[in-house]
Amino acid sequence: MTIPGAAPAAAPIIEMLSGRASDLGAGLIVNRLLPQRARRMVGPWCFLDLIGPVSFEPGRGVDVAPHPHIGLQTVTWLLEGELLHKDSLGSHQRIEPGQLNLMTAGAGIAHSEESPPDRGERMLGVQFWVALPATSECCEPAFEHHSELPLTEVDRVRIRVIMGAYDHLVSPARCYSPLLAAELSSTAAAATRLKLDPDFEHAVTVLRGSLVLEGATLAPGMLCCLGGQRETLDLALAPDSCAIVLGGMPFAEPVKIWWNFVAHREQTIRSALEDWNAGRRFLRVPGYQGERLEAPQWPRNGRLK
Ligand code: MN
Repeated sequence: MTIPGAAPAAAPIIEMLSGRASDLGAGLIVNRLLPQRARRMVGPWCFLDLIGPVSFEPGRGVDVAPHPHIGLQTVTWLLEGELLHKDSLGSHQRIEPGQLNLMTAGAGIAHSEESPPDRGERMLGVQFWVALPATSECCEPAFEHHSELPLTEVDRVRIRVIMGAYDHLVSPARCYSPLLAAELSSTAAAATRLKLDPDFEHAVTVLRGSLVLEGATLAPGMLCCLGGQRETLDLALAPDSCAIVLGGMPFAEPVKIWWNFVAHREQTIRSALEDWNAGRRFLRVPGYQGERLEAPQWPRNGRLK
């Protein structure tokens, strides 16, 4: 699979980035690792939020009201806790650790995310966005839930393929450009050599424990960007660690991101905003109790960065 307008992968680097706190509402603070001024995308990955670890008071939890998306796929992956996804296609899906919720926004979808009533107190997970290539950005919206994903163990490191392919293992999740998302975990100290696609850019983030790669120690909350042109990556996991490796073929141009919209052209985002404000295109989310989210004001200077 190739994408029109794909760019050659950049040279290998080790670039450590820390995230910034972002408030999703209802007291839910996430650590946003992408986009950043210094790094807009890693392959097609354009948005990375680390959620938790967080302990909710009794009766509290996640409650993100219906909001729209275009031009992207949302990838939700939990290590602890549960979430309930509802969308304008009528999907109603609980997700638990080790499962994938994959929502393809394409031409337009609205969804909500809530803590289910019978949840545990703690939550730890991620939500990542994959930008769709220009030729697919207006595809039909879709939702997939995968409770079983390919898993292998190499040198005591468990490798679960969330999206894309690793070695001979292929995730059933639908992708629109060549990419990889894999979870690495280990209960004991473990070291291994990953096989990477040299046409991809890669990055690693740690959710629990710590990881050492090329002499650099990565703690939770950091994103290590690795650049491209790598065929292998040596890494060591501390006991009880969990990390995610992301990769993919880079786009020639970074996508534009504003609020919950991703697109290759600013006008595509403007028209999605107009349709959300006018109650067009994005259907109601059945089963959500409460009001939908209001869009923020379009930037005063009228242009997106
Ligand atoms: Mn969303």
